[in-house]
This record gives sequence, C-alpha cells and structure tokens, in this order.
Amino acid sequence: MKDVKYIFITGGVTSSLGKGTLAASLAKLLQARGYSVTIQKLDPYINVDPGTLNPYEHGECYVTLDGAETDLDLGHYERFLNVPTGKVNNVTTGKIYQTVIEKERKGDYLGKTVQIIPHITDEIKRRIKLVSAGNKFEIVLTEIGGTVGDIESLPYIEAVRQLKWELGAQNCIVIHLTLVPYLAATGESKTKPTQHSVKTLLEEGIQPDILVLRTERNLNAGIKRKVALFCNVEEKAVVESVNVSTIYEVPIKMLDEKLDQTVLTKLGLPIGEAPDLTNWREFLKRLKNPKHSIKIGLVGKYVELPDAYKSISESLIHSGSTNECKINIDYIQSEDINETNMNERLGNLDGILVAPGFGARGIDGKIAAAKYARENNVPFLGICLGMQCAVIEFARNVLNLTGAHSTEIDHKTAYPVIDLMEEQKSVTDKGGTMRLGGYKCVISKNSKSYAAYGKTETVERHRHRYEFNDKYLDQFRDNGMIPVGINPDSGLVEIMELTDHKWFVGVQFHPEYSSTVINPHPLFVQFIKACINRKG
Ligand code: GLN
Repeated sequence: MKDVKYIFITGGVTSSLGKGTLAASLAKLLQARGYSVTIQKLDPYINVDPGTLNPYEHGECYVTLDGAETDLDLGHYERFLNVPTGKVNNVTTGKIYQTVIEKERKGDYLGKTVQIIPHITDEIKRRIKLVSAGNKFEIVLTEIGGTVGDIESLPYIEAVRQLKWELGAQNCIVIHLTLVPYLAATGESKTKPTQHSVKTLLEEGIQPDILVLRTERNLNAGIKRKVALFCNVEEKAVVESVNVSTIYEVPIKMLDEKLDQTVLTKLGLPIGEAPDLTNWREFLKRLKNPKHSIKIGLVGKYVELPDAYKSISESLIHSGSTNECKINIDYIQSEDINETNMNERLGNLDGILVAPGFGARGIDGKIAAAKYARENNVPFLGICLGMQCAVIEFARNVLNLTGAHSTEIDHKTAYPVIDLMEEQKSVTDKGGTMRLGGYKCVISKNSKSYAAYGKTETVERHRHRYEFNDKYLDQFRDNGMIPVGINPDSGLVEIMELTDHKWFVGVQFHPEYSSTVINPHPLFVQFIKACINRKG
C-alpha cells in the first residue's frame, strides 16, 4: 500500500485570510489531477463541536451527511470537491480532551501522568490519520484553525512537527498562509509580518515548505524573492494569492501560480496531465456573464453576520450560475419586519427565503414574510424554521387557528402546529442531540419539488428538534398546503407546498448543505427560475 500524503495548512499574521478557501482550492486542483483527496479542519476551541455555538461567534454550523455539526469550512470543502465530508473531518480541542479524559477515567494510561505531550498530541495525530483510515484517500489536507502563535493552537502545531518528523519530508508538507499588506502612504507591499509569522512557526519547530501570500495587489518578483530568502523557502514555493471577485476563482489562480505542481513535486508524486477544469470554468463563465438579475430577500435574525448563512448564500451563487442570473441578496433582519411595514420592506423583492433558526427572537417577522410571499405570489423558499413559520402563518390566517404556533416558542399554544418530535421529549443535553444528518424523503409526483428533483426519492440533511404536527395534516391538505415530501420510515413531514401559488416550498431539511458547484441543489435552481419568471 502506498503512503498517504499529508498537507497541513497553517495561518499567520491575521485570521480570515481564507485558509478554508485555499485548502479547498488546492484540493480541487489535486482532485482534478486524478488524486483522491479529502480535507480536514482542526479547530482549537474547547466546544466539542460548533453545534452549541451562537452563529454570531463563528458563522453557520455546517451539518454533514453522517450527522456531525461542524465548522463552516467543511461546507467549502464539499462545495469545491463535490465529495461528502463526515464526523472525522472536523476535530476540536473539546473532542481531543474528551477522548483523552475518558481514556484516563477507564485507566487506559496505566498509571501514567497524562500530559499535553505526548497524550494530547498523540490523540491529535490519531485523529489526523483517522481521516484516511484504510488508505481511503491518497492525500489528506488538514487545515489548522486560528493563527500561528495562538496559545490554543500550540498542541496542533507540535503534533504536525512530530508527524513531519515521523513520516518524512516527502510525506508531509506545511503550507503557511500569510498576509502581505500594502501601505498606501509609502506605496509599498510589506513582508515583515510574514517574516515574523514564519519566525513564530520556526520557534514552534516547523519550517514551512510553501508560503502563500494573500495580497490586495500583485506582488513583484523582488518581493517574492525577498520572502523566499528571509523565510528559507524555495522561490517557486512562494505563491501569491491576490484578491478575486469570487472564491470560486481561487483554484484557477492557484493553478496559474502552479501551486498544485509545487505541492506534488514536494510530495514526490507525479504531476501528470493538466487538470480538467472544464465544468468549473463553465460555472465561472456563467457566473460572471449573467443574463438576468434578481433580488432575493434573505430573512433571518443573524443577518448582520452573513457567514451565519454561508451555505445559503453559496447555494444561491450555484443556482444563480445555472440560471445565468446575478443574485443580489438583501439581508433582512426579521426583527425589523411586521405586517404593517412588510409591503414596503418586501415589495421590491423577486423572491423570499426565510432562513433556519432557533428561538423566539425575530419569529414574528419571519411569519410576516411568509404571509407576504403567500398573499402576493412571490416565490418562497422556507428552510427548517422558515418552513415552520410558513406552516404557522397558514394555520393562523387560512385555517383560522388563532394563536397557532410552534411549541418551541409558545408551549401553551392552543394549536401546536409545530411540536417537539417524540424522540426529543426525553433529551436534555444540548450538544449533538437534534435530528441530525441525512434522512430519506419521498416526493409526490404532482409537485413543484418533484419538478425540481425529477425523482421521487432523495436524502437530505436535517438539524431540528421540532416537526410538523400530524394531527393537523388533513386540515392543511384540504385547504391547499400540501405535504409533498414525507420521510418513508417515520412519516415525518419533510416538504410543504402551496397548490395555489407560483412557487411556494417549505422544507424541514437543509438543501443548502448539499449544493455544490458541480451539483447545484435542484430546489434552489427551481426557486431562482421561478423568481426570474416572475420578474419577467
Ligand atoms: N428551531 C427549529 C427546530 O428545532 C428549527 C431548526 C432549524 O431551523 N435548523 O425544529
């Protein structure tokens, strides 16, 4: 069996330079050259997973098919590679310590003092290797969250140092992503922050093999040479990553910079044929040359931080490209809308998307948005809580069930049209206990959803505790809100549609988690098509 090759991506100078995009772009190029590749994210925080985090902290929580609540970077990995990730692809310090402490309690350490080195670092190394267990992948890219020099990332850097030593230089390389700021006052791009960041990495025992320099302006050869000399890396291993208009352009930029070739050479792997990126380039071409333009209102309560809806905004980009349509997202704070101002606030939209969420804040605005979409024949996509709001609105205003609600918000409501799932009633722990991951959905033939999917069965990802209350099924059906998607095993309602409407679809699941560049999600594609048609 051939050795698995490891690529580590660390970040320097500042956060938010786009390590996730770099990892995904490089992986895309390696995949396009015929290698089987996966990407893993190591997050240095102590939460066991980001499921319990407020989206304002780190953006959205991304859910994998196997039901893990993970960092949003995994979404980028899937959107670029079109290959599912899973539980093993996201590791946090919380998970590492949890495992080590459980082992200690069982007596597995045989009386030894349990320490960061070797016990925590060994567990980190085990988790890194686990991703490619059984040599499932030829190359594993591991992104290390945070910035080099942070106290909490030290054990991860130490684990990488050890792995580099154990596996040898040809099996394990480190790419360090840094920033080269441009100082307008002197008209210069400055390399000092990069030099300092590499110095920090060296102090922690790692000589990076490749440097990727994020920059707002193209760097001249002199700057790259200076960085190479001072940071002790080959000149061709200094790569610039200049700002681009879309993250989906980064693989093409990295190809131009020959990053994939440098990586393969360092890993002792054949470079092979030039990667086939035909589909990717076509996607970009459509994205950049739209024939239509529409405005979608994204109604949610975390809109001040667009990262909280990352997968949704990316899904809109994918489906926009398919439809050759530029999508302008109007992020609408649901707390700001109500029945009195909805005409004015929502009147200029070509489509309304009500976002997922938890808790009471902003719920009335979401219900008002669903009402506006229903009454004005505006294409509507309600996701998870968004679907639940559409159900509540229909119950109140069409079925005349005054005060109908979800028991999540009003546990004393006379009409609990959305109620806690049976299996959730005994659950007290918050972390990892929702209905999570992929579940089947059977779709009725005579529906907008069937027209979108073109098939009667699909699997979609979930993240919720509440569900449509079956008791009201007939009432809804008889009045024109139809459950067109049902889970065949549990009977749970998965999709609700209005019959008497251009395009009104509410889904209990999260289509946004499975939309990729190569496979835009069919519901998003049809939603956008309906919006374009309405605009005319
Ligand atoms: N809060 C709702 C539930 O738990 C919806 C969850 C969501 O939108 N992801 O059912």
